[in-house]
Amino acid sequence: MFKRIKKIILFSILGAALIALGIALFTVFFDQAVIVRKGTIYCVLCEEKIVALTFDDGPSPDWTPKILDALKEENIKATFFMLGKHVEEYPEVARRVAAEGHEIGNHTYDHHVLLYYKPEELEKEIRDAQDAIYKATGVTTKYFRPPKAWLTGAEKKQLKRMGYETILWSLNSKDWVTFHDKQITSYILRNIRPGDIILFHDSGGVFRPEGGSRKQTVKTISRLAGKLREKGYRFVTISELLSLREKNGKQ
Ligand SMILES: [Zn+2]
Repeated sequence: MFKRIKKIILFSILGAALIALGIALFTVFFDQAVIVRKGTIYCVLCEEKIVALTFDDGPSPDWTPKILDALKEENIKATFFMLGKHVEEYPEVARRVAAEGHEIGNHTYDHHVLLYYKPEELEKEIRDAQDAIYKATGVTTKYFRPPKAWLTGAEKKQLKRMGYETILWSLNSKDWVTFHDKQITSYILRNIRPGDIILFHDSGGVFRPEGGSRKQTVKTISRLAGKLREKGYRFVTISELLSLREKNGKQ
């Protein structure tokens, strides 16, 4: 009897460990945004070699200034999808992002996965983030990016009704996994296409949108910028990317 209980416990632990490993491998090696893309903008089909760099989860007092320095050095304007709670904590960092000519998007107030939210809860998450961003920077956001990309079809429609365009990405740097900047850069260079939107982070670690190190993200900007320019690319914000889509009349 005792032996049987021991066996059950052992198998349960093994099962839980395998499930955890499966989830970890899924998030590290698969990009869930691919499943959610329908009804969102994740790239723009065009011939001109343009690319939009986007940074999620900030502002962070530790990493956003370093990322801003690197972008300034390379003369790049990017788009930052900010969390309302981080903007409230670090309004001066959010102000610097806006003052340096970067675009700001809404990434919710709290960074919760939205799949099971009621419409009024979703609206509150977005309004609270917008209020914080507006108070700190004077910016009214029109682009929205859902935490971890997850969003239902009904939520996509609700966001449209609220006047938001949902922006995902076509290239995921996976910088939050703390891959080396050389690996991130070579992955992007191998896969880049005109009109791509690249996902980076200016805050957060493996499990949370706070803490962690974005050292490799900062290094990647410097490493990548020159190499992409050599290939003929120029860097645009999400608004510029979308205006070119409108000119081309394509997705
Ligand atoms: Zn995020």
